[in-house]
Amino acid sequence: MQTKKLTIAIDGFSSCGKSTLAKELASRLQYIFIDSGAMYRTVTLFCLRNNWISGDQIQITEIINALSSISIEFKIDDQGNKSIYLNGENCENEIRQGHVASSVSRIAEIREVREKLVLEQQKMGEKGGIVMDGRDIGTVVFPHADLKLFVTASIEVRTQRRFLELTQKGIEITLEEVKDNLVERDFIDSNRKESPLVQAEDAVLLDNSTMTREEQLQWVLELVVSKVRSS
Ligand code: C5P
Repeated sequence: MQTKKLTIAIDGFSSCGKSTLAKELASRLQYIFIDSGAMYRTVTLFCLRNNWISGDQIQITEIINALSSISIEFKIDDQGNKSIYLNGENCENEIRQGHVASSVSRIAEIREVREKLVLEQQKMGEKGGIVMDGRDIGTVVFPHADLKLFVTASIEVRTQRRFLELTQKGIEITLEEVKDNLVERDFIDSNRKESPLVQAEDAVLLDNSTMTREEQLQWVLELVVSKVRSS
């Protein structure tokens, strides 16, 4: 029997483990995994390289005019890992750096940037069998997703997880800097005019503060099984 390929939307606050969960879930289900945050980070990197962001100043007109010349693709790199490419260049590592993290939420506020990326994300999900994580996936990108999750964890847990992730990659940063960046991004993401981060009415809330990765994966897999059975 052919089982239906679901569309799964995972939204939530910064560094609550959404991408890790989405990636593991997609791998178990043999679905496509898309980290939509990486796409906003890539546009931000392009803007930074062109000096269109300096302090509080953002050159919005230049950014909007350049959007058609930004090509973003996900490809499997030489090590077999999925990486994001900006106009043909692998920029997976660079988009995780602090200078990108500090500016991304302000670039993600621009309506035209969102319109471009949302269209691309919807195209990637046309055939179903996809797990996408972000901030507006269940509300805007896939409002009819088969399963929507809204993930959260305490700020202390999120700070600690992000700090470990960055320092393990050799990025020099303090706990306080990590926390400040998370708090600032959550505030901008939740309060912006365009597609703010909100829990979709039909999303299931998952607070993973005290869960291990495997526990949360099992919890979500049970939800998936019941969705497949009822569809
Ligand atoms: O998921 P990640 O933390 O990498 O996302 C980086 C930033 O991109 C978020 O803080 C948010 O400003 C923006 N974003 C968004 N909509 C999405 C995904 C990410 O606005 N669907």
